[in-house]
Amino acid sequence: MRVFLAALLSCAMTPGSAATFTPSDDAQSADMRTRAEITNYEHTSTSDDVVRVIKGLAATSPLVHTESFGKTEEGRDLPLMVISDPKVTTPAAARKLGRPLVFVQANIHAGEVEGKEAMLMLARRIVSGDLKPMSRQLVFLIAPNYNADGNEKVTPMNRSAQNGPVGGVGTRENSKGLDLNRDYMKLDSAEARSLVGLMNKWDPHVAVDLHTTNGSYHGYHLTYSPILNPNADPRLIEFTRSRMLAPITQAMLKSHNWRTYYYGNFSPEDGSGRESARIDPANPGNVTWRTFDHRPRFGNNYVGLRNRIAILSEAYSYLDFKGRVEVTEDFVHEIYKSVAANAKQIMTLTAQADRVLTAANSATPELGVDIQIAALGEKVDILVGDVTKQLNPNSNREMLVMAPMAVPVAMKDYGIFVATRSLAMPRGWVIPRNLTPRLTAALERLRWHGVRMQELAADAQLAVQRFSITDFSKQERVFQGRQEVRLKGTYDKAQLTVQAGSIYIPANQPLARLAFYLLEPESDDSLVTWNIIEEGIASGQTYPIYRVAGAAPLRLK
Ligand SMILES: [Zn+2]
Repeated sequence: MRVFLAALLSCAMTPGSAATFTPSDDAQSADMRTRAEITNYEHTSTSDDVVRVIKGLAATSPLVHTESFGKTEEGRDLPLMVISDPKVTTPAAARKLGRPLVFVQANIHAGEVEGKEAMLMLARRIVSGDLKPMSRQLVFLIAPNYNADGNEKVTPMNRSAQNGPVGGVGTRENSKGLDLNRDYMKLDSAEARSLVGLMNKWDPHVAVDLHTTNGSYHGYHLTYSPILNPNADPRLIEFTRSRMLAPITQAMLKSHNWRTYYYGNFSPEDGSGRESARIDPANPGNVTWRTFDHRPRFGNNYVGLRNRIAILSEAYSYLDFKGRVEVTEDFVHEIYKSVAANAKQIMTLTAQADRVLTAANSATPELGVDIQIAALGEKVDILVGDVTKQLNPNSNREMLVMAPMAVPVAMKDYGIFVATRSLAMPRGWVIPRNLTPRLTAALERLRWHGVRMQELAADAQLAVQRFSITDFSKQERVFQGRQEVRLKGTYDKAQLTVQAGSIYIPANQPLARLAFYLLEPESDDSLVTWNIIEEGIASGQTYPIYRVAGAAPLRLK
């Protein structure tokens, strides 16, 4: 410990101030400032800086539990802080407190670094500052450095148009070139498997994911998104919008003077692509505001299919680095206040979302297999902004700097997604024993996701729906190491004898919405989409997972 502290202090402090260091008093002398604070926001924290601050907090506070929630591809530990009063070290102890667990992750894209800085600063405030009273209202779970490998690959050439830090940032992808915010369903990266493991273990009620956006030149300091997938429990989406994000937006303006709104980019009415980043407010044309994507490969949508509240945060890339750290810190603080104020309802809503699919007599919902973006009612005022340019001497490239302009322009807000074709949730899914060998990789994924499966103990007569593939399309383009597949086809009904040893995946489990998305052949983000179910997937073939239609008198192991 002493060696560690001496080493860090030698680089963190000036020689003059280092003289005040007393080796016998490790905890009090630990420097718990971020690299951003130490360098006047010219640099971002390294993985060692993050660990230094976390260790300092754990050493000085009785409220902080730390653990590693997994390893990166390069073998780095993924740090998690759990902060509450009283301190908890296990999920069972956290549940026993009867309060919401709020999980915030930062740095999934390691070029988007302000969330990492903001969360270390917020953790300090929770542990020993103005937010300490909240440690008796919430259980804070903080993972400040999710893409820890990408975080170490710092160069000022990464995201060079971003308005600092001028010393550079890490890479978007992990060390294998994978975008972790496209990996939630296929789980190809060690990091994504670790994160899903954290969700299975701690099961937070609310999950917040911190980013930076470099899209259109709008007038917001930060934009955000709730769950966008309409297959999530609609009450969770509605609650997040009206009871959380609406008042948070007001508070961000009134208490902090930050302009915030739903995430979007300027786009032509027909959605044919991105309008130029710059809009002339005097002559905006037929421009619309358009959000991103409903698919659960994105974290906010994935969390939604797990029946939990999700909020994506996107600080504006052209606001200066210090401003981005501050706006992110204020946004997360307001989320914490909102969760504390709505604690009971959040816990009730998430528990109800789990029960909808487990209650024996409840009407099972229909879930979408074709999903489209849609506009919210009337036009809304979107703030149009602009940027100027400034040279970064470290990269010799121009950074874009947010201009003071923020002019409201009325436009349609394509901010939601709706199902245009739906299927009833089946009773469950069955994989006949003779087909399970070709589904080994799929079964492994289902286990990683925490989906409950059972083995048939005896042969059973089942009424099933089978899907015959009539159309198989595979993208030429390799995306994230895979070639995306979509299937079309027709269903038939059959009475089958399914052998002992077959796998049954019941829909009466909390993760049924996620199971539906992973397993249904017509889903747009399934195990077929990502070539994880591949063998025997072709036109004219029968899909190897059957929907169980009627009551199933199964003897399960
Ligand atoms: Zn991002």
